[in-house]
Amino acid sequence: MMGIFSRNNADIKNNETKMENKTTEINNNSNGTALKVESLSKIYDSAAGRVVALANVNFTIKKGEFVSIVGPSGSGKSTLLNMIGALDRPTTGKVYINGINIFSLSDSQIATMRNTLIGFVFQSFNLINRTTVQKNVKLPSTIAGMSHSDANERTQKILEALGIADKATQKPINLSGGQQQRVAIARALVNNPTIILADEPTGNLDTKTGDDVFDMLKSLSHKFRRTIIMVTHNPELAKSTDRSILIRDGRIDTDVVN
Ligand code: ADP
Ligand code: MG
Repeated sequence: MMGIFSRNNADIKNNETKMENKTTEINNNSNGTALKVESLSKIYDSAAGRVVALANVNFTIKKGEFVSIVGPSGSGKSTLLNMIGALDRPTTGKVYINGINIFSLSDSQIATMRNTLIGFVFQSFNLINRTTVQKNVKLPSTIAGMSHSDANERTQKILEALGIADKATQKPINLSGGQQQRVAIARALVNNPTIILADEPTGNLDTKTGDDVFDMLKSLSHKFRRTIIMVTHNPELAKSTDRSILIRDGRIDTDVVN
């Protein structure tokens, strides 16, 4: 995986500069901090009633940290990841990524931020099955405005780094679960994001394949200083991350360094 992830610090800087030009609310003390979550709450109001999914959550994550989020089903883990990734707006509270208060941005700025600063990996892969592996991985870079030749080159390098270059012309549906999750990780990495958010990335994989996918995330974190936040139900994997945050009933119960 040499070169490809370390080479692009300039790209990250460019993204940061672009974002900073677009927004007024910047926390200048963000050196070394990838993410800050401040008094975050999310309340869902539905026909079934009012659900407090997150209640006043606060934490900070350093650049390069690999953090696991654990907790019972329904405790608010996915809601938390969705707020951090700006897939949904919180009811109250703030999320700072690279010092930028993301919910102070307009919707179109949020979309740009999400595409360039955040990479998502989901339990169910969420790949586009009617097109090829190569096109799946390349898509976010095209959306970000990268030229086709640069995007093709970067896609090829990432597919090689993740050991799936030979699958480039296949459709995701024809790959194994582990290979599909590698494609999803490749797609998450293509724009060299500040933060990778993974919601139970090994949840649909057998133990051995899940461990391989986990090892890949861990090496991204340690060798290339990617900041990773991973929800998992697997206590062994959680213990192998730098830090585990336990969520219960929408609140942080414990936050421990492993
Ligand atoms: P986890 O990922 O820890 O299993 P979630 O974040 O998915 O938990 O859900 C937290 C709580 O919020 C649950 O009670 C869930 O039913 C509720 N919830 C999640 N999404 C919605 C939604 N879109 N509308 C209403 N309630 C929701
Ligand atoms: Mg969930």
